[in-house]
Amino acid sequence: MTARDGLQSSEVVWPTEHKLELIRRLVAAGVRRVEVTSFVNPERVPAMADAEAVCTGLPRSGGVRYVGLVLNERGMDRAVAAGVDEVNFVVACSDTFADRNQTTTAAGSVERWRRVADRADGEGIPAQVVLSTAFGCPYEGEVPVERVVQVAEACAAAGPVRLTLADTIGSAAPADVEERVAAVAGRLPPEVQLALHLHDSRGTAVANAWVAYGLGVRSFDASLAGIGGCPYAPGASGNVCTEDLAYLFERSGVPTGLDLDELLRASRWLTGRLGRPTPGSYAKAGPFPRREPG
Ligand code: ZN
Repeated sequence: MTARDGLQSSEVVWPTEHKLELIRRLVAAGVRRVEVTSFVNPERVPAMADAEAVCTGLPRSGGVRYVGLVLNERGMDRAVAAGVDEVNFVVACSDTFADRNQTTTAAGSVERWRRVADRADGEGIPAQVVLSTAFGCPYEGEVPVERVVQVAEACAAAGPVRLTLADTIGSAAPADVEERVAAVAGRLPPEVQLALHLHDSRGTAVANAWVAYGLGVRSFDASLAGIGGCPYAPGASGNVCTEDLAYLFERSGVPTGLDLDELLRASRWLTGRLGRPTPGSYAKAGPFPRREPG
């Protein structure tokens, strides 16, 4: 998420070369799925105006999948032309968020997803659907569980490889995760992987990830150094921090395939580049202490 969710709301537009450096560092640390950009209107999200240039410069090494975010069929056309390995599409669970983010309703965004999923299928590109505001909406507040389940079922019918519940405003607590993950997981076809996209706005993201892991969730969006936020979700702070999650899982005996030392270097490089403090905890505290020599 770092290169997209992480940088899209950044006040300073990052040069393409720095984005590519960031992506190379993530890949070197073992990250195997990277959301690299979004194919959205450059006038609305200037930080993503170089989507095509980023895709052209991506390091092509074995097993790494690059994902592009699209919000409509025009974005889909651009993503196909740019040669992404996978597309993400966002469907809002609440009407007001759908209106602000995509100028449609929740039902309208499900309709768009169906068209994009069809198109992706025709191109042979795996598509994933992200359900934003699945735990709460910045404009409407509570989003009923039944609503999220309905939207999930409608989206799953179009055959995504993955369905991600997004805590867009970072309001979820572990009890919400238990309730919503169980409700949605019970209604998904077995071939659709359930994933979580967490924000740490209220300090609950790592706890939420751990609870979700216990419920069988094996795919999490995260952002290096915990940077990011959504331009249409006022008050939402960063994504859950990649290296904090990696530490949580590795220390708990759950292999992640990630190299914590490389992640730490990348995170500190990123923080240096941004020139301001970043939210992640692991990079501040450092690794688990090693026994002092002698
Ligand atoms: Zn997000």
